[in-house]
Amino acid sequence: MKKAPIFDLAIVGAGAAGLQLLYEYLQSTEHKDSRILLIDSGDRSKKSWCFWAASGHESFPFLIEKSWNKVTYRYTNSVRETQDIDNLGYHYISSTNFFTYFFDQFIPAHPQITHQIGWVDTLTETVSVVDIQIKGGSTYQAKQVADARIEKQVPSEKPTLSQHFWGKFIEFDTDTLDSESATLMDFSQAQTSDDYTVFHYILPFSARKGLIETTVFSKAGYDESAYAAHWNQYMEANFAGKNYQVLEEERGTIPMALTKAPHQPGKIFAIGTASGQVKASTGYAFTRMHADAKARVHQSSFTRKPRFKFYDSILLHMIQTENKVIPQVMDQLFGCTPFARVLNFLDEKTSIWQEIKMFSQLQIPLFLKHLVLKNR
Ligand SMILES: Cc1cc2nc3c(=O)[nH]c(=O)nc-3n(C[C@H](O)[C@H](O)[C@H](O)COP(=O)(O)OP(=O)(O)OC[C@H]3O[C@@H](n4cnc5c(N)ncnc54)[C@H](O)[C@@H]3O)c2cc1C
Repeated sequence: MKKAPIFDLAIVGAGAAGLQLLYEYLQSTEHKDSRILLIDSGDRSKKSWCFWAASGHESFPFLIEKSWNKVTYRYTNSVRETQDIDNLGYHYISSTNFFTYFFDQFIPAHPQITHQIGWVDTLTETVSVVDIQIKGGSTYQAKQVADARIEKQVPSEKPTLSQHFWGKFIEFDTDTLDSESATLMDFSQAQTSDDYTVFHYILPFSARKGLIETTVFSKAGYDESAYAAHWNQYMEANFAGKNYQVLEEERGTIPMALTKAPHQPGKIFAIGTASGQVKASTGYAFTRMHADAKARVHQSSFTRKPRFKFYDSILLHMIQTENKVIPQVMDQLFGCTPFARVLNFLDEKTSIWQEIKMFSQLQIPLFLKHLVLKNR
């Protein structure tokens, strides 16, 4: 009987993080002939991955479907402000495009990848390998395992908040959207209650087609009917009398929790959401997961500056305990800081001097209050 191979690397979870790692692994000369097992649950749920990057530093530039050089913020008083974002671009990759590329092109072009549809039950580390047990019976062995399973996620340090999405890809029958600018946050419908903070997000792919999404920061579970009501109200307030058809829907949840980076000196290491790559205060993760994948492959260190985790912790405390102030805090942030700098700050790329300048224009007593309360 032919002996089953021992894979150099097994990737559990063929989502954003798993496929990014697969790609980067095979780009390196050291690993390009390695044998890889990709265990794929078959989940292809719709996600719109957006991120910003300086020109020439985009993640997966060949998969980008739309880029914007301007972004819009809409204040609680309904005033819209649109700004150029300097040398940054705001980019969109759909999960459809991403998965099509990987499953139809990249994986078939690399015979060293074994693509297995299945659900991993257990991973057991032995002295020399990891035993991988797939639900239904099959077992595999690998020298190392990258693990994207969320259930393995490290518990959060504080009570958990989530960011929920409910949106629709729509097509108007007349030119309606400003296709030059993506709306990051629209707080014009001050739909904020004790339970959650709501804003809207618009990705205009053309003057007629776009994704319009209700986004909610909440401690509660997903509430589709409430989000649908917000979405309908928003459409009524902004696009009354316009005809459109719904092309697709997108829904999902991102944890907004500060996770401790798992210490995993062994053969199994967490990736993606499971390794705390989602930025707690924003939900953005795509470029962070990509940077992590590159660092793992090249065994370089990829460390985050701790002060950004500290800022996130204050903002999360505020969202958690006084979410009604969030629209005003965002109004102030976007009102006093160039948008490109806000994006660099969210990407943890600003200098401490830029941060001091920015914070000095915000409500310092409010931030101090949450700094004190969060440590109680
Ligand atoms: C709707 C939505 C929109 C988002 N938009 C953005 C955005 O615009 N920009 C951004 O930066 N981030 C965004 N994110 C956040 C983040 O980038 C995504 O959640 C991203 O998909 C996380 O990647 P991941 O690999 O950790 O998880 P996933 O992409 O969910 O992949 C994990 C995979 O592992 C599989 N799996 C789990 N357990 C097992 C098991 N036991 N056996 C086998 N397979 C298993 C799952 O089925 C899944 O296929 C968004 C998230 C959501 C939900």
